[in-house]
Amino acid sequence: MSEDDSGRLSAVFRRLIANTGPISLMHYMGEANARYYDSRDPFGHAGDFVTAPEISQMFGELIGLWLADMWIRAGREEPVHYVELGPGRGTLARDALRAARRYGLEPRAHLVESSTALKDIQQVTIPGAFWHHDLSTVPMEGPVLLVANEFLDALPVRQLVMTAQGWRERMVGLSGDRFVPVAGAQPMDAALPEARRAAAEGTIIETCPGAAAVMYEVAGRLVAQGGAALFIDYGSDEVYTGSTLQAVREHRKVDPFLAPGEADLTAHVDFATLATIGQSRGAKWLGTVEQGRWLRELGIEARADALSEFAPQHADAIRSARDRLIGEGQMGALFKVMGFAAPSWPDGVGF
Ligand code: SAH
Repeated sequence: MSEDDSGRLSAVFRRLIANTGPISLMHYMGEANARYYDSRDPFGHAGDFVTAPEISQMFGELIGLWLADMWIRAGREEPVHYVELGPGRGTLARDALRAARRYGLEPRAHLVESSTALKDIQQVTIPGAFWHHDLSTVPMEGPVLLVANEFLDALPVRQLVMTAQGWRERMVGLSGDRFVPVAGAQPMDAALPEARRAAAEGTIIETCPGAAAVMYEVAGRLVAQGGAALFIDYGSDEVYTGSTLQAVREHRKVDPFLAPGEADLTAHVDFATLATIGQSRGAKWLGTVEQGRWLRELGIEARADALSEFAPQHADAIRSARDRLIGEGQMGALFKVMGFAAPSWPDGVGF
C-alpha cells in the first residue's frame, strides 16, 4: 500500500473526529486493521511480522496430525470440514492438510478471510477451498475441525477507563494533528460487572466483543455438528487489567496511534474469558497450555530430527526454527494453545 492510502485513512479519521468528536478505540482498531490487511501481505522478513506457520512447516504439520487424531478417534465421520479463521498466506492450512491426508483425513477446506490481498494468495496455496466472510456461511452439517492462529489478537478491542467521574469508554481524539487516547463523555459503569466496578483512577479494562462472538459461534457449532477447535495466540489465561494494545511495523513495536492502517494492531487474547464462554455453550474445554509444551507433547523434537536426517544441509535452520517455536524466551511460553471439542469427542493430545 502506498503512503497515500495511509494518508487517506488518517484523513478520514481526522475529518470524522473533527466533525463528530472522538471515535471509540474499537472503531479505530477495527478500521485500521481492515485497511492494513486488505491491501498487503504483511508476513515474513520483508514484511512486518513472522508467524509460527511461516517459521516452519512443522507447526502446521503437527496441527494436522492433532486434528487427524481427534477425527479418527471420534469415528471418522464424513463429510468433515477444515475451517481456518484468518489463514494469512494459507501456509498452515497447506501443511496441516498435507499431514492429515496421510491419515486418511481429507476434509473440505473453508477459509474465513476478510483481506482481498491475502485471499488472492490463498487461492494459489489452497486451490479448491471455499472462502467465507464469516462463520455463518460454513456448512451446518458434518464435524468442524477449526484452527485460528494469530486471528483473535487482530480483532478490535474495546477499552473502558476509570476516571474521576466513573467508567468511560476509551476513545481516540485529536491533539493538533496527532491521534491521542481520551476518555469518552458517556458514563459506562453499567457496562461492567459489579465485581469489577471498584478500581483506581486510570485503571483500564479491555474486552474483545468480536472474539467473544467467534467463541460463542464456534462452541455452538462443535456442540451441534461435532468437531474440535484450536485457538493459538499470545495472551493470558488469567483475567487481567490494563491495555495490551500494540502496533508492529517492520518487526518493531511502534506507537498504535501514529499511522492507522500502516501497522498491525493487536491485543492480548483473554483466554480465561473465552474458555468460560465456550463452556457456557456446552462445548468441552480441553485446556489452555503454552505453545512450547503443546508442540513438544505432539513430538516436534522427533519431527525436527526426522527432517534434519532427510535434509542434513538444513539441520541448523530446522533446529533454530524448532527453538523459535518452543523456546521459553521465544514463542514457546508467550503463545498459548486453547483446545475445544464437542462433548462427545475425545480429549486432545497435549492438553
Ligand atoms: N493465521 C495466519 C495469519 C495471521 S494474521 C498466520 O498464522 O500466519 C491475521 C489474519 O486474520 C489475516 O489473514 C487477516 O487478513 C485475517 N483477519 C483479520 N481480521 C479479520 C476479520 N475480521 N475477518 C476475517 N479475517 C480477518
